[in-house]
Amino acid sequence: GSDDNLIALLDLEFLRHYSTSGASETIFMNFRLRSSRVTGPKIRVPIGSSCLFSSTAAFRSKRMALPSGEKCSFVLLAGGSGSRMKADRPKQFLDLLGKPVLQWDLELLLGIEELDRIVLVIAEEFRTMDFLQPFVDGDSRLVFAAPGKERQNSVENGLAGVADDCTLVAIHDAARPLVTRESIDKCFADAAAHDAAVLAVPCKPTIKESNDGEFVLKTLDRSKLWDIQTPQILRPQMLRDGFKNANDKGLAVTDDVSVVELMGKPVKLTVGEYTNLKLTTPEDMIIAE
Ligand code: C5P
Repeated sequence: GSDDNLIALLDLEFLRHYSTSGASETIFMNFRLRSSRVTGPKIRVPIGSSCLFSSTAAFRSKRMALPSGEKCSFVLLAGGSGSRMKADRPKQFLDLLGKPVLQWDLELLLGIEELDRIVLVIAEEFRTMDFLQPFVDGDSRLVFAAPGKERQNSVENGLAGVADDCTLVAIHDAARPLVTRESIDKCFADAAAHDAAVLAVPCKPTIKESNDGEFVLKTLDRSKLWDIQTPQILRPQMLRDGFKNANDKGLAVTDDVSVVELMGKPVKLTVGEYTNLKLTTPEDMIIAE
């Protein structure tokens, strides 16, 4: 509103999340506004501070955790040039509500205590950016890997950086800073059960196919279409085998579980959130904000 402060009335479930999230300057919170009955204390959140408000079903269900018995790592892809954004720097370094997109990613992922390692795929020239230093100095789980020519090569480089005993690796685009902890947990749970899982949402638009970009060839059956997001989570060895298979056959892939599909193995669709958009063109920044 027009006030200096926004007053959020939060319940105790929120406080539990807040106190375990390791948040300091930035508060990531899932909360439920209670219009009629207030059971928790008032927390004052200055407008303009870095808060991500996401109203989700998280508090209707018990807060989840990463699957026990698994060693989980992330490969965070920030090695692209993002030319479609037409900006002066790659999109992962653009300002989103006062801080770089990549900072949002790192705060979320490093806040997941159970993660063993986060391999950040990023070019050398960007590794010394000021905002990165506290993360690099403050958390030994964060390591770097060099980008490759194509996304697929960056994934391969990142994969080489996960520990040998890692049992589940999540590949995530830094250009998707709006992914939630809840979606990440769900996708890890599915990957633990099925060996490969990907966040996805049912396709909203009607999609038509064209051979020449001039005329419609056919209309695809929307009820069967899914919009695929990241993270994509799978067994590291499956990904290595999949890349070898794709490279041997000279196939290019734009997502990671494709290499598993090419080997004829099942990939679980984990229903994600429409808000997990990929920053690609300039208007996406406005929507993300
Ligand atoms: O270009 P696109 O939007 O598909 O990129 C998705 C993600 O992959 C981005 O976060 C980008 O930084 C990353 N990427 C990469 N190495 C490449 C190409 C893209 O790490 N060679």
